[in-house]
Amino acid sequence: MTAENTSVAPPPAGLLANPRLFPTLSAAQIARMTARGRRRTTASREILVEPGSRPVPLFLVVSGGLQIVSATGPATTILNLDPGQFSGETNMITGRPALARTEVREPGELIELDREAVLAVIQTDAELGEILMRTFILRRVELISRGIGDAVLIGSTHCAGTLRAKEFLTRNGHPHTFIDLDREADAQELLDRFHVTPADVPVLICRGDLILRNPTNARIAECLGLNAGVEPTHLRDLVVVGAGPAGLAAAVYGASEGLDVLVLESDAPGGQAGTSSRIENYLGFPTGISGPDLTGRAQAQALKFGAQILIARRATQLACARQPYAVVTEDGSRVSARAIVIATGVQYRRLAIPNLAQFEGAGVYYAATAMEAQLCGGDEVIVVGGGNSAGQAAVFLAQTTRHVHVLVRSAGLADTMSRYLIRRIEDNPAITLHTQTEITALEGNGHLERVSWTDATGTAETRNIRHVFMMTGAVPHTEWLHGCVALDDKGFIKTGPDLSQEDLAAAGWPLSRAPYLLETSRPGVFAVGDARRGNIKRVASAVGEGSISIAFVHQLLSS
Ligand SMILES: Cc1cc2nc3c(=O)[nH]c(=O)nc-3n(C[C@H](O)[C@H](O)[C@H](O)COP(=O)(O)OP(=O)(O)OC[C@H]3O[C@@H](n4cnc5c(N)ncnc54)[C@H](O)[C@@H]3O)c2cc1C
Repeated sequence: MTAENTSVAPPPAGLLANPRLFPTLSAAQIARMTARGRRRTTASREILVEPGSRPVPLFLVVSGGLQIVSATGPATTILNLDPGQFSGETNMITGRPALARTEVREPGELIELDREAVLAVIQTDAELGEILMRTFILRRVELISRGIGDAVLIGSTHCAGTLRAKEFLTRNGHPHTFIDLDREADAQELLDRFHVTPADVPVLICRGDLILRNPTNARIAECLGLNAGVEPTHLRDLVVVGAGPAGLAAAVYGASEGLDVLVLESDAPGGQAGTSSRIENYLGFPTGISGPDLTGRAQAQALKFGAQILIARRATQLACARQPYAVVTEDGSRVSARAIVIATGVQYRRLAIPNLAQFEGAGVYYAATAMEAQLCGGDEVIVVGGGNSAGQAAVFLAQTTRHVHVLVRSAGLADTMSRYLIRRIEDNPAITLHTQTEITALEGNGHLERVSWTDATGTAETRNIRHVFMMTGAVPHTEWLHGCVALDDKGFIKTGPDLSQEDLAAAGWPLSRAPYLLETSRPGVFAVGDARRGNIKRVASAVGEGSISIAFVHQLLSS
């Protein structure tokens, strides 16, 4: 049974007018929702939910009507809800604060369901679960695309801090309005109103009144309540470190099989895959799927099954001397668990160019998503690297930029890139491949303005190029594990059959059994995905390893 027997009436006027955002439940569906909720009457103009409050209940309109009104700027009706329609968007699943006000438009009767009841409906009623999840996600997507939310970011696209904050909000799917100081004529007036100087940018106006000057990602997460409702101190069955495809898969399988799972993520869920413009080789998506779409769905799936995710919470140490192990995070707090899955992936190598850091986020990027493409406008760009991610970036950027130069150190792409991408690069007149070529200098005042490179013949060339995408191989995020689990000479985590007797002896392996397939040199600590030695660096292998690690976690917990 699918959601097809839900009728979709023309929506009443409101800012969001896509009829797919307003499913009207059938009488049988309303009866099943009613069984999980409580009936209540409403008074004229009654306010049911204030922006910033949590947990947010769901309201199903029986009679009368509701309206959802935006929290920032002049009061604007975002959604109008009539009988048979329900309130809510993804914060029903995440437990995060309300982005807008819910108020009574016309008094009548409602069914009110608290968050636990909504999660129970989603988990047990396949038909209603599909309708609710799809509607919540579509509403969030619509809010993001229209910038309707509780956050206003003011900054300059030439400023690394602005780009970092914008990327953090975007990758966490948090709707926000961006005011570009370089483009908006009245931006200075706005800064003056909040007593902010240009040196304070980026500035985040959080929930309409709180002003954050150049906030860290952790501060942004705190202010917007991205970690609201997560209680990090109790002993968990499983802590997963890293919310890329591998970590999210472990969270989905762990939580769906009844484990109490907490995921720690240093930045935003999605990992490298979340920065991919289009993944075309992941099973089941013949026309490809964007990385943010795939990992956004995985995140919603993990949360639906009850996993919790702490965002902007970097693991800095594994306290492994005694069990239960604990993961220490950068704010000094500890999270203990019976089992740990490490899924911290890799990050791109930084080229040895002395002033590289000066241009990171101001012309030098490590991801090629729609956000970076927008910053490039129609300019000429450079992609450095010969792997699949570089190939994808080149093909993607060629759609919107004037020309893409792909720079590789090797003599060709055949050994490092999939054949289908090589052909697309060869066939695309907007892409030029420069083999045996390396960047030698970056120049610019604040933002990157010129790039010099040298080719195999030693010929140097300098061009006025303002955007360079670095896709140059990877180093594992395992520096925080030193001394706890055996690593290979490149820092990748050794597991299962890769562990030698010497590794086990050095780690003091205490058991008579050998380590399980994905187990490290510490019993109960597993490693999956790109950070694991021998892993094939693909989304499918990350997802596969994350999923099967849970079978070993079960064996461990039941022994
Ligand atoms: C641009 C691009 C395009 C790609 N395209 C494809 C493709 O088309 N097909 C394909 O199969 N593969 C593709 N890949 C590769 C694929 O994305 C990776 O193999 C996959 O994402 C690895 O998943 P992972 O979960 O192991 O690690 P990652 O995706 O790297 O995720 C690791 C996560 O851990 C977090 N983390 C790191 N350190 C810590 C810490 N100390 N504490 C807490 N959290 C931490 C990171 O922030 C990150 O979110 C692409 C990669 C890139 C960069």
